[in-house]
Amino acid sequence: MQILDGKVVAESINKENEERIKRKKTKPNIAILGIKGDEASNTYIKRIEKNCQKFGIGFNLFLAETEEQFKANFEKIKDDEKITGIMFQQPLPKELLELVDEIPPIKDIEGVSSYNMGRLFLGKERAIIPCTSKAVIEVLDYYNIDLTGKKVVVVGRSNIVGKPLIPQLLQKNATVTICHSKTKNLKEETRNADVVIMAIGKARFLKKEDIKDGAILIDVGINFEDGKIVGDIDFEDIKEKASMCTPVPGGIGTITNAVLIRNIIESSEKF
Ligand code: NDP
Repeated sequence: MQILDGKVVAESINKENEERIKRKKTKPNIAILGIKGDEASNTYIKRIEKNCQKFGIGFNLFLAETEEQFKANFEKIKDDEKITGIMFQQPLPKELLELVDEIPPIKDIEGVSSYNMGRLFLGKERAIIPCTSKAVIEVLDYYNIDLTGKKVVVVGRSNIVGKPLIPQLLQKNATVTICHSKTKNLKEETRNADVVIMAIGKARFLKKEDIKDGAILIDVGINFEDGKIVGDIDFEDIKEKASMCTPVPGGIGTITNAVLIRNIIESSEKF
């Protein structure tokens, strides 16, 4: 089985990121807004901060104690011309999540607003695309995997992975099936797929009996098991049967970081 190495894909995106940012007179400057207290999201924020520093991107963190303070922070920065990109750090209460549609579309570096998602679904140019879904497309492109006429099964229908993958896979002429927790005969769907994209957050869920010979597998999942990070695919179990698979770690997550930096640069260029 061939390992689809996320590190080399990320390196090639980051090389371009470096060149683009060198040419810019004014560097991008982003703001992350969240609510204090979630340990996992703190780790994620620190990684973004480190990455921004590496590329000379301005980084501003607004962690609120209360929902009211979150709203006040958002009011303060959303139309600030010095801020070129805005990101909401989850988890957030539903009411605050609704504010995503008040982020000016060009500052929506995660591409999660209705405006950018709508443009993506309609196949319009200049949509900002959710980073993780785009990372899946990047790895397929890097390894020249042609999806024309292929049956692609995506397991997971979230707004940041499963849903934004629909238009991108259709654009590549795949026949797309989206599965979720209410899907009947899920394993039958994955067994008939040429390509399976797993994004459910259940450790080592997909086994060799759930795929067909030579299937191409993309693992978006990040799960913690006995202090180790594992994906939604049982990598050891499937490796004799699949033809290609992304690893976890070192797969989609690594590419997602590079795509976020590209989104940050691109949105600042749209200013
Ligand atoms: P969500 O919790 O938002 O969505 C999970 C999806 O999986 C839902 O659609 C849910 O179905 C479906 N699901 C859950 N259990 C099952 C099951 N047993 N069978 C079939 N479908 C199931 O998760 P995210 O999309 O945010 O994340 C998914 C995974 O990807 C997580 O492990 C997360 O950590 C990881 N992730 C990785 C990133 C990266 O950079 N690599 C970035 C973002 C996420 P339903 O809608 O019916 O509830």
